[in-house]
This record gives sequence, C-alpha cells and structure tokens, in this order.
Amino acid sequence: MKNKGVTVIETHFSHLPRNPALASSRDERVMDAQAKKKALYRAKLKAQKQGKRIDSPLVRYNESDQPVCRVCDIVLKSDSAWSAHQISAKHREVYMHTHPFLFFLSIFLKRLLIIIWVVHILS
Ligand SMILES: [Zn+2]
Repeated sequence: MKNKGVTVIETHFSHLPRNPALASSRDERVMDAQAKKKALYRAKLKAQKQGKRIDSPLVRYNESDQPVCRVCDIVLKSDSAWSAHQISAKHREVYMHTHPFLFFLSIFLKRLLIIIWVVHILS
C-alpha cells in the first residue's frame, strides 16, 4: 500500500519538473541563441575570408558583394576568377592603356623580385 502510494505521487507529479512543452521551448530558446551565435560567428568568418580573398587595389566589391576589376570595370564571376583575369590578355591590355606607368612598374618590380630571390638563393 505504501509503495503504491509513492508510485501514485511520483506519476502524478513527475510531469512537473520536466514539462515537455516547457522543456522543448526552453531548449529551442537555447538552440536559438546558439544558432544565432553560430550564424554571427560564421558571418564574421565569412567577412574575414572575404577580406583575405582578393587583396588587390585593383579589385573592389560591389553592392552585391561581387568582386569587380577596377581596371576593366567588369564583375568577376568568382574570387578565384581574379587570378585568371589578372593575367588575361584583355585585362593587361586595358591596364597598359589606362595605367601605363603602373603597368610597367609592376613588371619591373616583379622582375626585380625574381632577381633578388635568385641572388638570395645563389648566395
Ligand atoms: Zn581587369
């Protein structure tokens, strides 16, 4: 009889501490906060990544966050397209006509860097 009474009380009150409706909404709230934190973190990471992606004064980002070549004023399909575009004949031609001094200076600097590197390796 005593045991039965305890069981009755237990089953009667067992729903109180862990009310499924309350528990799930609390879990959801916790999950929500975590998801928001994660989303914020991901956005931050993405922004950092984007900042790292194309590090060139010749590239700007438009309102849609797409990379745009300042020289040719064309939207690049992707961030990886920049390296290909940079060495493309069209881009070099436009660059040479619009910024002849910079164009030859960049070639000069690249060659100078190669010379310095070779000298450094040989010495
Ligand atoms: Zn270009």
